[in-house]
Amino acid sequence: MQELIRVAVDGPSGAGKSTIAKLVAKELGLDYIDTGAMYRACGYKMLQEGIEASSSDALKEMLGHTDIDFSGGSIFLDGVNVDGKIRTPEVTMMASACSALPEVRAKLVELQREIGSRKSVIMDGRDIGTNVLTDAEFKFFLTASAEERAKRRYGEMKEKGMDVTYEDVLSDINKRDYDDSHRKIDPLKKADDAEEVDTTFMSIEQVRDHLLDRIRSSAL
Ligand code: C5P
Repeated sequence: MQELIRVAVDGPSGAGKSTIAKLVAKELGLDYIDTGAMYRACGYKMLQEGIEASSSDALKEMLGHTDIDFSGGSIFLDGVNVDGKIRTPEVTMMASACSALPEVRAKLVELQREIGSRKSVIMDGRDIGTNVLTDAEFKFFLTASAEERAKRRYGEMKEKGMDVTYEDVLSDINKRDYDDSHRKIDPLKKADDAEEVDTTFMSIEQVRDHLLDRIRSSAL
């Protein structure tokens, strides 16, 4: 059997994880798994069903009949493609709230580990190197200043025609940084054996090539 290659990419919101992970996946023929999209799908369903993050029983009941999966690079919630529904500011905040709940993390982490055990993947998130795939062959921790990350996110949202201000995007990023790194379970943290890459002054191509060089020089 061919050896599996698992690449973990963690870091705060807007550091460019998904853009870079998609490019590296394409170049190396790996499956790209966007774990943030899984938390977003869960947050989206909670909003749809009117379930609050504080109502543990209703949440457990919901999770019992919730199916989240990836296929062909798209995220499916209960069999329906929800790619176009999970990037709104409302879902973003709910995803962050639901990702602090033990029930939600237990279910999604199990699914992520199962995916990582059967195929070569590049998986991005907050706790991939520290918790989900602790034995990943490669671990990267992407960072950039909060202002630079807000600038990038604001540009993307404007391009999609969304009605947002730079100040709102920056304040969301600061709030999520705080929440993600201060939650009790699996907080955002660089794994001891991950390489930190500060992308503030790097182009997308430079970051992509840096990761590719690292992986190719020691594995492929
Ligand atoms: O990466 P993205 O911004 O799409 O993630 C949405 C939310 O899901 C984040 O705010 C974060 O709180 C949460 N998340 C997480 N663990 C992961 C991936 C995402 O807690 N592995």
